[in-house]
Amino acid sequence: MGYGNSMSVKSKKKLKRIMRSELCNRCGTCVALSEGKIEFTGREKRYRPKMLEELSDGEADRILNACAGKTFSFPEYREHFYPDPAHFHPYIGPYENIYTGHSTHPGIRLKAGSGGIISSILIYLLEEKMIDGAIVTTMSEDKPWLTKPIIAKTREEILEAAQSKYIITSVNEILAESQGFRGTLAYVGLPGQVQSIRKLQKAGDPTVANIRYIFGPFYGNTLYFSSVRSFIRSYGEKDYRQIRKLWFRYGEWPGNMRVEMKNGRIFELKKFHANYLIPFHILKNSLFCTDFANEFTDLSGGDAWSPKYEERGQGFSIVIPRSRVGLEILENMHRDGWLELSPYTEEESIKMHSHGYDFKKRGSFIRIGMRRIFFRQVPDYGYRLSGFPVSRVLMELLISTLFLLLGTWPSRRMVELLKPAYLGRIFERTRNTWKKSTRSIKRKNL
Ligand SMILES: Cc1cc2nc3c(=O)[nH]c(=O)nc-3n(C[C@H](O)[C@H](O)[C@H](O)COP(=O)(O)OP(=O)(O)OC[C@H]3O[C@@H](n4cnc5c(N)ncnc54)[C@H](O)[C@@H]3O)c2cc1C
Repeated sequence: MGYGNSMSVKSKKKLKRIMRSELCNRCGTCVALSEGKIEFTGREKRYRPKMLEELSDGEADRILNACAGKTFSFPEYREHFYPDPAHFHPYIGPYENIYTGHSTHPGIRLKAGSGGIISSILIYLLEEKMIDGAIVTTMSEDKPWLTKPIIAKTREEILEAAQSKYIITSVNEILAESQGFRGTLAYVGLPGQVQSIRKLQKAGDPTVANIRYIFGPFYGNTLYFSSVRSFIRSYGEKDYRQIRKLWFRYGEWPGNMRVEMKNGRIFELKKFHANYLIPFHILKNSLFCTDFANEFTDLSGGDAWSPKYEERGQGFSIVIPRSRVGLEILENMHRDGWLELSPYTEEESIKMHSHGYDFKKRGSFIRIGMRRIFFRQVPDYGYRLSGFPVSRVLMELLISTLFLLLGTWPSRRMVELLKPAYLGRIFERTRNTWKKSTRSIKRKNL
């Protein structure tokens, strides 16, 4: 596997520093590889990995090597996994083609986050016997307010796990179980989680030997569990343990955040309005991640945000096959009538998500630069984008200060005194104005 003594005992120290810092994206790999020596604590709070027992030098080296929090070289892993892509763009990553589209099965489309492409692919691979199971993230049965990774082996389980979850997920915890799974697997994860799987694959680690396909959603940000607590508190419910069921994209696209309580009360808020929770509860690691379009998957998908599609509802995705295998699956599914697909250009796709690319490919690098000034730990992605206009840097200062202020305890409590529907409307309007006023800044050099 290539882990030797050369990496030294410093690994343990480095690992502990990452685990304590904002560089930890909570992917769960360290927990899975530690055989019980590392566990997540306080999942309803800061959701941190904690070392319960000292690791051996070998264990520490192996886990550090698989951790993508501090070090993940985009150029090196691109070279290794996508040596000859049809296209490459520094914002989008390597890719074979770009499409917008959706599942042709209305049941899948309605159950999914956007166009149901990811769930359709998993069901197709399962039914074509190209995989025996799929690693996906569902809501926990015991604690329905938390998420849980599972190996889905049926269409029903895949659909139950569909839709985006906007609280912390640690998919890679499943590796402890999935390495013993007999058969081949597809895997679905967020960029940081996928990067760790790629690190394990490159190292030849047996834990991931049965993972054949990697898929994943685009990734703007995720939130601490405090967002859910705050949401129900705004409706006067104090105990999150009374939650019976929780969705983040319930119903027709773009869907609603919906909470059902054991006492029968139901709270539902449009997805765009529920975004008001972001500045108050954003996971800090989201601010230092520079991968918006899940660049290291075989295929990634996002919401097709465009008035043309949004007017029609029902659910539309943008989908980017990155490997030949990803492209082949998509083309076969299209040919067999599983998916509706239309080609989309690189330029259009960047325009569609200029906000997200700006946040990750410009904002993240500026935020990382600010951390460096204060001698805080920074991630090393093996590349840097720079040379942004002063106005963009100033805008970032403003946004970061706002996030800092709104993320404090008093701000979070104060906002709970207002009605979420009212806040959501203000948030949507402010965000639209901000998006419009910054359009030229963001489009510059895109
Ligand atoms: C935290 C988060 C942030 C996102 N931010 C953006 C954004 O800024 N812009 C944008 O265009 N799109 C974003 N997306 C992607 C978008 O919401 C849809 O997931 C995507 O369009 C795929 O839609 P689909 O209908 O094909 O997926 P579905 O068929 O609904 O399948 C989604 C798959 O992703 C898995 N999954 C869901 N949530 C998580 C999670 N948190 N961690 C790991 N696996 C998960 C599910 O288990 C399921 O297998 C985000 C998704 C997530 C989870």
